[in-house]
Amino acid sequence: MTIAEALTLAESSIDRREAQYLLANLLKLSRATLLAHTERVISPDEADQFTRQIAARAAGKPFAYIVGTREFYGREFSVNEHVLIPRPETEILVEQALERVSEQKWLESRTNAMVLELGTGSGVIAITLALESKTSNVTACDNSTDALKVARNNAQRLGAKVEFIQSNWFAAFQHRRFDLIVANPPYVAGGDKHLAEGDLRFEPAIALTDGSSDGLDSIRTIVAGAPAHLSSVGWLLFEHGYDQADMAREMLLKAGFENLICINDLAGIPRVSGGQIR
Ligand code: GLN
Repeated sequence: MTIAEALTLAESSIDRREAQYLLANLLKLSRATLLAHTERVISPDEADQFTRQIAARAAGKPFAYIVGTREFYGREFSVNEHVLIPRPETEILVEQALERVSEQKWLESRTNAMVLELGTGSGVIAITLALESKTSNVTACDNSTDALKVARNNAQRLGAKVEFIQSNWFAAFQHRRFDLIVANPPYVAGGDKHLAEGDLRFEPAIALTDGSSDGLDSIRTIVAGAPAHLSSVGWLLFEHGYDQADMAREMLLKAGFENLICINDLAGIPRVSGGQIR
């Protein structure tokens, strides 16, 4: 079978560009090279693998899980079914976190900001922070050991120094304090219809929702627990759902946070909230 024939076959059941990217990825070619050599014959084994990938994609399996990678903040991260697929809006959380750690005024006595990420998944947030901010000591936790495997592998491959710990939110951090705590916790409401649609059907449910009716139980736990784990004038920043900004604000105020911030994503939806502790 030639590349041209394989693509024609694929295009009957999946998107044309996706088919091209899948085959290019499988043959370890760029898409441009692939399309410049459509007469090339692929091996029966490659044809077999490609057929299986087309079937998986046609059945709805996310593109990122099939190729095993997704780009985030300019770097390629490995992903699998044990971790959420990184979303572009999460880059806003990273940008905000980087702004806080560069505010050296709250780090007078130390040179490095101690950063904690709760629920790291594939590690994109913690690893990007470690690589983008040379003055941060980054620790990241997840309750899932399968997710931690993915995160550790990503850190090693990208050369990021991150301490990974298995922990249910703050459980493993009894007396430790940090200058910045970040999280992209599960926040989709338990019965949300989106959980049964698109990529979300294939992502780990525990990373998307804690099952609470408003989706906010994990954020409640994080906001309530953060003050005891923040150093003086430390920041908490977290991502939340499109309709959760008001509730997030209320929780932050109740927990004693000041200088509250709420940042919109590229679609104009309030997506990242946080505040500073005195
Ligand atoms: N932003 C994701 C979605 O709605 C949810 C991610 C999360 O729960 N942290 O698809």
